[in-house]
Amino acid sequence: MSDIIVIGGGIAGVSAAAALSRDAHVTLIEAEPHLAYHASGRSAAMFLQDYGNDTVRALNRASAAHLHDNGILRQRGVMLLARTDQHDSFVIENAAFGLTELDLDTAQSLFPILNRASVAHAGYRPDVHDLDTDLLIQGYRKQALAQGAVFETGARISEIHRDQGRWHVTWPGGSAQADMLVNAAGAWADNVAQMAGVTPLGLQPYRRSMAVMAPPGGHDVTDWPFVDGVDEGWYAKPDAGQWLVSPCEEHALSPQDAWADDMVLAEGLERYQEMVTEPVTRITHNWAGLRTFAPDRALVIGADGQVPGFYWLAGQGGYGFQTAPAAAQLLGDLVNGRPPMLEASAVAALSPRRFA
Ligand SMILES: Cc1cc2nc3c(=O)[nH]c(=O)nc-3n(C[C@H](O)[C@H](O)[C@H](O)COP(=O)(O)OP(=O)(O)OC[C@H]3O[C@@H](n4cnc5c(N)ncnc54)[C@H](O)[C@@H]3O)c2cc1C
Repeated sequence: MSDIIVIGGGIAGVSAAAALSRDAHVTLIEAEPHLAYHASGRSAAMFLQDYGNDTVRALNRASAAHLHDNGILRQRGVMLLARTDQHDSFVIENAAFGLTELDLDTAQSLFPILNRASVAHAGYRPDVHDLDTDLLIQGYRKQALAQGAVFETGARISEIHRDQGRWHVTWPGGSAQADMLVNAAGAWADNVAQMAGVTPLGLQPYRRSMAVMAPPGGHDVTDWPFVDGVDEGWYAKPDAGQWLVSPCEEHALSPQDAWADDMVLAEGLERYQEMVTEPVTRITHNWAGLRTFAPDRALVIGADGQVPGFYWLAGQGGYGFQTAPAAAQLLGDLVNGRPPMLEASAVAALSPRRFA
């Protein structure tokens, strides 16, 4: 059995540990004291099959069965809202997300605080789901541990080198060795590559924030849809009895523990408020996370083109949870030399070698 080190304890690393520990000794190394501290602890927890480019959608489709079969998804529905002057964008986005246009009476029956003075167009699709991120990641963690994987937390790797075909990684107070290295370090994936002497791919983290508030006007929001402002101006959704609103920003940042920016939140809430009848009175708390994209916005999965034994599982962007089952399976297939389940064109479009 080979040894594999997985760097990163977010959804990417933990799902990889589950997929790889069937056939190898896996050690997962995470810098923070607990798993899912960064992007994987800060998502909107949605599954939208028609979200992302064609390559991402191939992963979404290939992940759907695992997510459904393991009770990870709960139907929520998605509604797209637009003003009269946003008609052209509405038509494009409505078609891209596979939505059906609704009359405003029906839209308001599903989303009672819809502001008829501003909203001119509404689209809807019922088969969009909440994704239980904790259940998914804990399921992979348990599977990996049951298969003998070892998890090292609070272990920020500071040095990586390759000697006589073996990787050596070091963190304050510990070290590990392996035949293969999987880079699942999220926003830090290019930094980890550089540490290992591997050419970075141009992965860019972008901040996205979230404001949390009590249900608007005291409504029971449990069955409200995920509501999306056209042109990515904002989105809102119920979450554990609370109401979340995101300004949908994409601000390029260096890898870091991200925090919401008050001004960005205020501007996003203004765009949201125009489309609803209930004012935002108080934000209970807020958070922000980094969505890290490759230059072409598809994930990066597979062996590095130049350095042997170095595998990428990075660039999850805004789709890391909904693509995780298929992404981890593909990594497992590639590491073990099995023919991938995914179609060949998608495998090529995900390969790190596409940047060579
Ligand atoms: C606001 C927001 C909304 C989102 N909504 C959705 C959604 O609805 N659906 C969806 O599917 N996705 C969504 N996403 C995207 C999803 O959260 C990410 O794609 C996913 O969490 C990325 O997982 P990851 O494991 O790659 O990264 P991370 O969770 O960031 O994990 C990487 C880990 O690597 C560790 N690491 C880095 N460097 C080192 C080192 N030197 N040594 C040891 N460890 C190291 C870090 O500490 C970190 O824990 C959203 C993201 C945000 C921010």
